[in-house]
This record gives sequence, C-alpha cells and structure tokens, in this order.
Amino acid sequence: MKELQELSRSLLADGQVNVVIGWEQGPTGARPVFVTKPEDADRLIFDQRCVHNLAAYLSPRRPNVGKLGKAAIVAKPCDAKAVAGLIRESQIKREDVVVIGVRCGGVLADPASKEALSAETVSERCPGCESREPTLADHVLGDMPPPPPGERRRDARIDELEAMPPAERWAFWQAEFERCVRCNACRQVCPLCTCDRCVTEKTQPLWIESSAHSRGVFAWQLTRAQHHAGRCADCGECDRVCPVDIPLGLLNREVARIVERRFGFEMTDDPAAAEPIGAFRMEDEQEFIR
Ligand code: SF4
Ligand code: SF4
Ligand code: SF4
Repeated sequence: MKELQELSRSLLADGQVNVVIGWEQGPTGARPVFVTKPEDADRLIFDQRCVHNLAAYLSPRRPNVGKLGKAAIVAKPCDAKAVAGLIRESQIKREDVVVIGVRCGGVLADPASKEALSAETVSERCPGCESREPTLADHVLGDMPPPPPGERRRDARIDELEAMPPAERWAFWQAEFERCVRCNACRQVCPLCTCDRCVTEKTQPLWIESSAHSRGVFAWQLTRAQHHAGRCADCGECDRVCPVDIPLGLLNREVARIVERRFGFEMTDDPAAAEPIGAFRMEDEQEFIR
C-alpha cells in the first residue's frame, strides 16, 4: 500500500497525471476515490475489498472524470483487460492513461465485507484466475499473492446448463430474467458499455420495450450479452450490482466460451489483439450468410 501511495504522490507532484483513480476506505468498506492532490495520496488503499472495476471511469461516457485531466488508474488484471478493451475500441488512447497494475490474489464478493478471503467469501470469478499480474501496465505493484481460494464453481454450473435440453435451459433463463427490474445498474457499471445512447433507450423506432415487462426484459438481456461477446473483461461488476441477483456472470462466461470455441479468442489485456467483433478472417465459417 505504501508503494501505491508513494508512486501516486510522485505522479501527481511531477504533473505526470492530474488524477489517480483508485480505492479508499469508505464508511462501509472499500470504495472508488479520485485523488487530485499529492497530499491526498495516503488515502489510497489496495486489498481484497477493492472489487470495483475502475476502468468504467475512463469511459467517455463519464465526461466529469475526463474533465479532471490525465488519469492514472489502479488496475487489477481483470480491470486491465477492460482498459485494453477501451483502447482497442478507440474509446481512449494508450498515451492518455497511466496504468498502475496490482498483482492480485482474488477479491471478496462484497467490498463492504469484513470477512477474510476464503472459498466462501471470494468473488465467483476469481478461483482459477490465470491472469493475476497485468501486462498492460506502466507500473506493477505488490508481491504475487497466493492464488484465490475456492473451486471454479461457475464453470461447473455452465457445464450443467450446456448439458440441459434447450427447452429446460430456456425455462431456466426465463425464470432468471423474469426478476429483472430494468434498473440498468449492470449497464451503468460496465466499463465496456460505451454507447452514447443505449439501444434499449431508443424509442423511435422502439427496438426493445423499456418497461420491466418480460418481453422487453428477455430482449434486453440477450442484447446485453451479445454486445459483450468477445469484449467482456469478466470483471464481475454487472453480476455484483444486480439488485435481484440475476447470475449475469454465468451468461457472460457462457458467451465468452462460445467466442473462444468459434473464434479462438480469449479476452486479454493486450490492446493490439483483434476482437472477433472488429476483425474479419477469411477462415471464419460464415455459415450464417449461406
Ligand atoms: S478475476 Fe483474477 S484478476 Fe480479477 S479480481 Fe479475481 S483473481 Fe484478481
Ligand atoms: S459485462 Fe459485466 S463482467 Fe463483463 S466487462 Fe461488463 S461489467 Fe464486467
Ligand atoms: S442490474 Fe439486474 S435488475 Fe438491473 S437491469 Fe441489470 S439484470 Fe436487470
């Protein structure tokens, strides 16, 4: 933590950046903070409660953060994948952000938790994580911690869902989506939901019913999942903020698996890697246009 505070202080004091986007201790746990003065760098923390993907604040959808000037961002490896996504999609320029990477041994499911990190308290995306040191980083801090505790329960659950007959799987997701209240928290928190105007808000023409009716809800969920195909950083933020506990992480991960099988692409923090959605390959099957 000292390392992070000292580096941030010097980046701000030397004028290399105008703001450091990191985490601080809030009244109920870790929370995002925007440090603009060298003397405030001591507020910065990093531990297993630093759950939030701060890359969301780099998105052009957040002009108030952009107005603060050049930013440094503290990024776990999964957060760095989202930063890479923003660069890849020309939402930000690499030279406009200083990435302070932190080595990661997993985070808690709840940033307000006072529990130790364990198989019961760990975020479900962390067990088995293979990218615990960001490569998209100007600085990498901390010693490599032990691997996140727990089993890859989520993958086993997706295997079960894939093995279900389609009608049963359809019924599973219908029952889950039925609870959606269309609060859009999952969209607002996502660093890679970068559209100025979401397709779900367009009323002329009305593509997707915007009330929390089951028709619109199903279309919204499938649209959200498709728009993240090959783009989702698997940071788990949409899943965490959903007030009705829809297992969005299962859906994101299932789509990521399909993309991996079909296009051999896995989300990475290399901004130069070509995302399937923006790349054309002659060897792609293209059976959908036959
Ligand atoms: S998914 Fe990996 S990088 Fe992200 S918080 Fe969990 S262990 Fe850390
Ligand atoms: S869809 Fe969810 S898990 Fe994927 S990048 Fe967005 S917030 Fe993170
Ligand atoms: S956060 Fe949950 S309830 Fe809100 S729109 Fe997303 S899926 Fe629906």
